[in-house]
Amino acid sequence: MPQVYLNGRFMAPEDAQISPMDRGFLFADGIYEVIPAYNGVLFRFEEHLARLERSLAEVDIRNPHSPAQWLALCDELLHHNGDGNLSVYLQITRGAAQKRDHAFPSPAVTPTVFMMTSPIAVPAVDSPDTAVGIKAITLDDIRWARCDIKSVSLLPNSLLRQQAVAAGAAEAILLRDGFVTEGSASNVFVVKGGTIATPPKSHAILGGITRDLVVELCHQHGLALQEREITEMQLRQADEIWITSSTKEVVPVTHLNDAIIGNGQPGPQWKSLARHYVQHKRRLCGLDTPETRD
Ligand code: PMP
Repeated sequence: MPQVYLNGRFMAPEDAQISPMDRGFLFADGIYEVIPAYNGVLFRFEEHLARLERSLAEVDIRNPHSPAQWLALCDELLHHNGDGNLSVYLQITRGAAQKRDHAFPSPAVTPTVFMMTSPIAVPAVDSPDTAVGIKAITLDDIRWARCDIKSVSLLPNSLLRQQAVAAGAAEAILLRDGFVTEGSASNVFVVKGGTIATPPKSHAILGGITRDLVVELCHQHGLALQEREITEMQLRQADEIWITSSTKEVVPVTHLNDAIIGNGQPGPQWKSLARHYVQHKRRLCGLDTPETRD
């Protein structure tokens, strides 16, 4: 029986209720995080918590819990849901006010805290030799100017992803003024002539935790990596394209719009990065996957 967490209590999902006056409901006035856990061990927890702190500070919502309290809540939630490979979704809204007013309630109201888990599908990096790539399409980035804040206001992302799905693709890669920003729910990497590139962090993209890990792993293992702007043409002419996110990790894109990327198979740079990624995950979370077994 799955359990969720709402405002201090663990309960069945159908028992979780919030007020329609909650500003998360009325204004999408809230922040979220998605933290993967493998074998019941939270992956890159401190980094996710630091991003949560930053997003909350940017929109002036008080963080209702200390890092130790967040860790205890995540661990207990995972435990209630059978540990294993799960992602923890956590959301904090500004809370429920007496009346609907765009300006923040004054004095401040108690933030609403909701958490749930979802199973993580076996990611492509776990089996680099048999993995298949996905199709992506390019779309105009129609979102706001503060995509660095992990806001629950995801209607533009949702519209973009839906357009991708309707076109038979798994992700939309977004372009702003001719440059790649990110995916509708992922960061983007391209490989050309052996060099890996990803757009620099800015207000135009979410600073992905997986993106940062891939950058770190490239540096650690001597793979050439540049954080720089990527033009639409460079995206189209890439030898490899990857997208990254906490639940999907690093996924090769082998088809872009109606064109094939590289030879239509996950590329050699992706395979090499995937092996480093899995080794890192295994070390941190005590996993023993067939690919990494000695
Ligand atoms: N960009 C956007 C817009 C996202 O929604 C996500 C996933 N939440 C990412 C990038 C990837 O971030 P992370 O690696 O931290 O999951």
